[in-house]
Parts: sequence; structure tokens; C-alpha cells
Amino acid sequence: MAGEAGEPDMRGLMPLVAAALQVAWLRLVPTLPHAPKRPQGELRALCPCCGSPPVASLVESDPQSSGVRYLQCGLCATQWYFERSLCTLCEQSGKLDYLSLAPEADAAAVGDPGVAQAEACGDCGGYLKLFSRALDADAEPLADDLASLALDLLLGEEERYRRSGYNPLLIVEG
Ligand SMILES: [Zn+2]
Ligand SMILES: [Zn+2]
Repeated sequence: MAGEAGEPDMRGLMPLVAAALQVAWLRLVPTLPHAPKRPQGELRALCPCCGSPPVASLVESDPQSSGVRYLQCGLCATQWYFERSLCTLCEQSGKLDYLSLAPEADAAAVGDPGVAQAEACGDCGGYLKLFSRALDADAEPLADDLASLALDLLLGEEERYRRSGYNPLLIVEG
């Protein structure tokens, strides 16, 4: 099934397959006759173009859309709007926590994995990474997700939260 680690002897090939799929989707999406409608209901957190889960959130900092959060597809890189203060998994807002490796004051250094935050939800126990252009103007969720795996390892060790971000270049043994 999608997202699972697959057969051990095939595992080495999977990042290559994933990269090929990404290239295919990146070419395909601009050829859609019109932009797909914003997904509704339970599908809101899935990519409107290809149906994959998001790899991470991106919060914009430019004057027109400052503070607006988009989810970015792990497969085709489409970005779509999602409310800022809701868990992307269960849509609750009461127990959201923002965890990062670096104390806030140090997080501004560009390329520092500390710019990655985990939006962790105490209601469903899941987390999705969040990157802010206010902290890193060149934030690119797919690459920055891989660059901040230390945060996943830390959260995995604590066993408090489970990763929800989908990155086909990353194979996590379940
Ligand atoms: Zn997609
Ligand atoms: Zn939740």
C-alpha cells in the first residue's frame, strides 16, 4: 500500500521510483484544464490534484498573504490553503503545540534545521511539520523536511506524537 515501507529487497529502489513519480506529476499538473476545486470535508487535507497527503505546511510572510498557511503535496508539490489554527489531521484546535529543535531566538539562521516546527496535536496524537517564510525566506517543504529529520527522530523517541507528513523520498520503517 502507498506510504508503507515495502519489501526489504525493493527498498533501495523506492526513492528512485518516488523521484520519477514526482517528475511525472510535476509535468502533469500544469496540463490540467482548470485548477481542481478546493477539497471539502475529510478530503481537505489531501492534495486537490493527486490525492496524496501533504509533506508539510508552509506559512507565507509576504504582505498579501502574511501568516496564511498552505499545505504542500509530497508528490506533485501543489499547494493549497488550510486554516492556520486547526490540526490538519483531526481539525481540532484546542491542544496544538509547536515543537522545534532550536530555541526560538536561534531559529532565524537560514538553513538551520531549527526553522522546522512540528505542529503537534494532543487530540489525535499526530504532527505535521510547519515551515515559515518569516524564519526562512527560501523554505521548501519537501527538501526542508528531509533536512530536519532530527526533529522526527526526537519526536519518535519521545513516542508522544506520530508523523503524518508524507514524503515519498523518505522511507520510515513502521
Ligand atoms: Zn499532489
Ligand atoms: Zn489532531
